[in-house]
Amino acid sequence: MMLLFEDAMSINEMRKDYLLNRWVVVATQRKRRPSDFVKKAREKRVGVCPLCPDHEHMTPPAVLVYLPSDGGIQKDRDFEGFRHKNWLIRCVPNLYPAFTPPQDAKKIRVKDSSILARAIGHHEVLVESPRHNEHPGVARVSQLIHVINAYLDRLKVLSAKTYVRYVSIFRNHGREAGASLSHAHTQLITTPIVPRIIKEELKASRKFWVKNGGCVFCDILSKEKESPRFIWENNSFIIFAPWASVHPFEFWVFPKNHQSTLLDISQNETKDLAKALRACFGGLRSLLNNPPYNFGFHIAPIQEAHGYYHWHLEVYPQLAIWAGFEKSAGIFINVVPPEDAAESLREAIQKEAS
Ligand SMILES: [Zn+2]
Ligand SMILES: [Zn+2]
Ligand SMILES: [Zn+2]
Repeated sequence: MMLLFEDAMSINEMRKDYLLNRWVVVATQRKRRPSDFVKKAREKRVGVCPLCPDHEHMTPPAVLVYLPSDGGIQKDRDFEGFRHKNWLIRCVPNLYPAFTPPQDAKKIRVKDSSILARAIGHHEVLVESPRHNEHPGVARVSQLIHVINAYLDRLKVLSAKTYVRYVSIFRNHGREAGASLSHAHTQLITTPIVPRIIKEELKASRKFWVKNGGCVFCDILSKEKESPRFIWENNSFIIFAPWASVHPFEFWVFPKNHQSTLLDISQNETKDLAKALRACFGGLRSLLNNPPYNFGFHIAPIQEAHGYYHWHLEVYPQLAIWAGFEKSAGIFINVVPPEDAAESLREAIQKEAS
């Protein structure tokens, strides 16, 4: 009798992140299917969209505009009282910025021991397309290439500022994932400190590098390529569900070549990244009926870590609610094993492509 009981009660697995001191319980007991997460009601478009064409006056002047010109792109900016029309990409300061540029551009150092600092920096909204609904899962690859190039342009300008320690490029999609505007857009925030998660990844990857003389991320890639968590690849990029996924259907996108920052990517790789984004977000969208999600790039902070850090994009579908245990203990419960998530996403991407 005892044996029967034990058979029926299989024990959940605890998994630790590759680098972070972060545990997740993979709850096979409460295992869910993709269809359990599909929501029928989708947000309706309400009111006037300030990011749509002809509403340019509703935002501050753009700091970067891509304009079509002789089959290529001309880059410019808006000015007070003047807004470009017929743009392909616009990047505008956030109307309600979390971080604000300083009055003088002198170097600002926030010490590790500080408990108070001024929120100095930039907070920008990058409008990914004049088409309201051109999100990465349905976007034209040609448009996604513009989006990536615009990330690079802003990243270059912002990371050169003396008071910027880190540039976070992230996307909120859907109201449940914190998007207040439904128009396709990415945000950029610069911080005068290196954010905690980046710092922990840097520290752990440096430790591995000192001990083993190589990049821990390159090591992870070569292992995950052969694992049941593998999702998709092309010549330059690989996508997999991480071993200790915190979110159901979480996946990460890595360049195959060792590069510490997004700024290192070549033109060819830019095209391949656009294709990779189109594939994985297309798959996610069709699998879970356009679910809410967040993503964030993890890149090496300025002039550090070139040998041991490897940039990547982490994508977190927003399908579970973090409740008392997650918030108070910092241990997460994921009801979709990453191996199952990878299988579903693999199939969804294949179906999309055929
Ligand atoms: Zn719009
Ligand atoms: Zn590497
Ligand atoms: Zn990361």
